[in-house]
Amino acid sequence: MSGRVAFGSVNGRDLIQLKSSLMQVPKIRYILEQIATTDFDSLLKELIPLNNIVDLIDQAITDEPPISVTDGGVIKDGYDSQLDKYRDATNNAQRWLADLEAKEREITGISTLKVGFNHVFGYYIEVTKSNLNKIPENRYQRKQTLSNSERFSTPELKEKETMILEAQEQSKNLEYRLFVEVRDQVKATIRDIQRLADAIAISDVLQSFAAVSEEYRFVKPTLVKNHEVDIIDGRHPVVEKVLGHQQYVPNDVKLAEDTNVLLITGPNMSGKSTYMRQLALTVIMNQIGCFVPAKSASLPIFDQIFTRIGAADDLISGQSTFMVEMEEANDAIKHATPNSLILFDEIGRGTATYDGMAIAQAIIEYVHNNIGAKTLFSTHYHELTVLEQTLKQLKNVHVGATENNGELVFLHKIQMGPADKSYGIHVAKLAGLPQPLLGRAETILDSLQSNDKQTYLASSTLEDTQPGIVDVDDSVQEEQISLFPMDPVDKKQSAVINQLKQLDLMSKTPMEIMNQVYKWQQRIKKE
Ligand code: ADP
Repeated sequence: MSGRVAFGSVNGRDLIQLKSSLMQVPKIRYILEQIATTDFDSLLKELIPLNNIVDLIDQAITDEPPISVTDGGVIKDGYDSQLDKYRDATNNAQRWLADLEAKEREITGISTLKVGFNHVFGYYIEVTKSNLNKIPENRYQRKQTLSNSERFSTPELKEKETMILEAQEQSKNLEYRLFVEVRDQVKATIRDIQRLADAIAISDVLQSFAAVSEEYRFVKPTLVKNHEVDIIDGRHPVVEKVLGHQQYVPNDVKLAEDTNVLLITGPNMSGKSTYMRQLALTVIMNQIGCFVPAKSASLPIFDQIFTRIGAADDLISGQSTFMVEMEEANDAIKHATPNSLILFDEIGRGTATYDGMAIAQAIIEYVHNNIGAKTLFSTHYHELTVLEQTLKQLKNVHVGATENNGELVFLHKIQMGPADKSYGIHVAKLAGLPQPLLGRAETILDSLQSNDKQTYLASSTLEDTQPGIVDVDDSVQEEQISLFPMDPVDKKQSAVINQLKQLDLMSKTPMEIMNQVYKWQQRIKKE
């Protein structure tokens, strides 16, 4: 509204709205003054009711003005004496017309005779065809013929018409000029209106915070200068509202000074994303000055929040899901500081398993070693939980789930330590996939898991001190994938690897080894 005032494009209705808004200001002031605190002193200073504007609009503008500002009906009677005169003249003329109708009916004895107006022909006396013979000769001048009636005029009627139309025209012009004057006076106070609007917006936000905090049992957080996050029984305010307070399982978030990364594992659908978003919302609510959804919360001030959550494609600009994922991760890694909060939800799931797991691990290590931001990293690669052994500031947590007669039961409760497995097939079952398909998946999973230990190892056996995904042994991969038709490239590579395994280095000269490597390379390249 203040934008339109500043722009000079308000109409009568806008001004009436402005008036009724301004009339609420004393009520807002009264409420704030009743609260025994000095916290609102600066706000009260800005909450000036602008009575002069209220009075001006009240005196000048009709209570229900039309949208158009040029067709009259905007300015109140009594505001301008010249306008009142024009209006009187018009009203008198209208009365004269009504009298004329009565008089002519009496003289002619035509009870259906009427005086009317149209924009093309002006004022007229209308008589139906059947009554035309009752009109005394030469009484009227013919003006317009319709199928059922004739329209007439008289010199007197013509004269009044000119007067009425002129008065209406002048009245409209004057009204518009008066309206513009009022509008300009309001516009001249735009600075005051804007300051008041800001103050009302602040009161509105504070009032909303207070209302939701009371209604949804939010608590006042404690701000800490160090980096510790300690939330007891935190809740996601939106999910809680949808599920109902009783259904929602509250969760703690504990990130002590020496814990920067929480690695969250647990089945799909168990509540990992909800837990992460819950923290982000709690941080935002805290930093905008609202109470937070928890039993108690102690929080630092974060400088930025980085998130990689959900799978938003940007297909229009040609970005794949995985590319978007990597770009968002990159943004966090480039710009996060030790005072930031990073939420990475299942990073790496958009590509092949080993690829994704490798990237996920590298990102965790990088954030842990080089950034030191408080980070929640959820993953369904429970293999990554071994990182706790070597990354000092990383802790495993998982969202609890249990099996009950082969059915998966989500507990939605964050617990210390890693998840024992991924439960993907259970979730597939919950989604209603056919039984034979699920049976087949179990078989494949068993087969894959029997090789698991060989494919993914903590680096304690390697020279590198970091735990890591060791190079994938293609012969193992061959075994795993043998459940499916094998790609010819894989076949060739695994043959090469088998030969490499058997190569006795000690019995070969460097030149022989080089030749052999050259041959293998050629073989692999050929495809
Ligand atoms: P994940 O990220 O592990 O796949 P989500 O966070 O998307 O799981 O949660 C899946 C569903 O579980 C949510 O839509 C919600 O209905 C329910 N849920 C999550 N957290 C809780 C909780 N703390 N209490 C009750 N229900 C929850």
